[in-house]
Amino acid sequence: TEAHITACEAATGLNAFITPTFDLARAQAAASDMRRKSGDVGRLEGAPLGMKDLFCTEGVKTTAASKILGDFTPPYESTVSANMKADGMVMLGKLNLDQFAMGSANETSCFGPVINPWRNGEDLVPGGSSGGSASAVAADLCLGATATDTGGSIRQPASFTGTVGIKPTYGRCSRYGIVAFASSLDQAGPIAKTVEDAAILLQSMAGYDAKDSTSLNETVPDWRAACGQSVKGLRVGVPKEYTIDGMPKEIEDLWAEGIEWMRDAGAEIVDVSLPHTKYALPVYYVVAPAEASSNLARYDGMRYGLRVDGENLADTYERTRTEGFGDEVRRRIMIGTYVLSAGYYDAYYLRAQKVRTKIADDFRNAWETCDVLLTPTAPSAAFAVGRKINDPVQMYLNDVFTVTANLAGLPGISVPAALDGSGLPLGLQIIGKALDESTVFTAAGALE
Ligand code: GLN
Repeated sequence: TEAHITACEAATGLNAFITPTFDLARAQAAASDMRRKSGDVGRLEGAPLGMKDLFCTEGVKTTAASKILGDFTPPYESTVSANMKADGMVMLGKLNLDQFAMGSANETSCFGPVINPWRNGEDLVPGGSSGGSASAVAADLCLGATATDTGGSIRQPASFTGTVGIKPTYGRCSRYGIVAFASSLDQAGPIAKTVEDAAILLQSMAGYDAKDSTSLNETVPDWRAACGQSVKGLRVGVPKEYTIDGMPKEIEDLWAEGIEWMRDAGAEIVDVSLPHTKYALPVYYVVAPAEASSNLARYDGMRYGLRVDGENLADTYERTRTEGFGDEVRRRIMIGTYVLSAGYYDAYYLRAQKVRTKIADDFRNAWETCDVLLTPTAPSAAFAVGRKINDPVQMYLNDVFTVTANLAGLPGISVPAALDGSGLPLGLQIIGKALDESTVFTAAGALE
């Protein structure tokens, strides 16, 4: 713990932490030592970890990287962080993120951008929204960190920082106490240094929780045991629709290389088709803002968080929300409100929901001929800070390979696979069947 605190103090330039909790970490480490002496060792005993600042932590400020939460200090703990505490975690602090987890570069935080520890002459983004988590793990500021993934926010930052990130099946991790973005898509998961570490962390985070009505009442298998198993005979699907226009050659090459590694390890490579893939990004950018606009209605300046007094009630709402929400969050609220409004609902929201079902059906059909899918995680390596922040569509295109798993509720992992021409990490993604994280961990091991 002390070594990690020293590393954190030396790396403030990365801006990975919003609220460091070093005193708490020291107290937790001391309590952990006591438990260890009495032979009572939890799954995460004494492990110095980071917590994305989207998870409510009792007594520790939780911001979602937005001014609108003010100095909100939750009176309760998210189920995921409670599970990890019960397993002996040491929490080093709350990690920076895109505001309300909306973004792909960690540049929408009201606390400023997070810097990727990987550089090629300029400051690069760590990906987003879990950029603080990815940057902190990649820079060895913590052994692992929690993250959340609504459209790729665990996997894309993992790809940009040379770390491993898994989004489990929707419902595996309780959403209780996680600040909501798009409730039908949001899932928690870890960012870690190795596939095995990711399995250990996810094992602690996951599990049924009666406090989340979408939590799955399913036993959590021994995921660590699945790591390092042979992929001999595993059917690995390669979806042709993931070859997109303008895909950089190095991403195509990396994908081809990944296919070869799988083949060499004894897997069977199968061509598959997911015909509705091209609609995934547009569907996501209707469904996610729609749910966000509804979830964010609670920030009204009355109940908790920021309040900017106005002339009357409506004026107070307006001032509070104008001052409290950042540009990207306001953009999402406007899109979401628009697609849900009478007259447009059928044309946008309802249509998007129908296509979402088609996308899920595509995967179901694919599982008839393969066990997992192999794709790139992101269409590029990390890019320079500031390069895309003023072009939302360019930013949204980052999520083209990741949103499909969220729309279908499937587990997906990103594994660092290679370095690009300028020495930056690139990830490959494995998508698996619902509840089949075990096979995802096994397949991921073959790419590591
Ligand atoms: N980049 C996507 C978005 O901005 C996904 C974010 C996420 O997964 N939280 O919506």
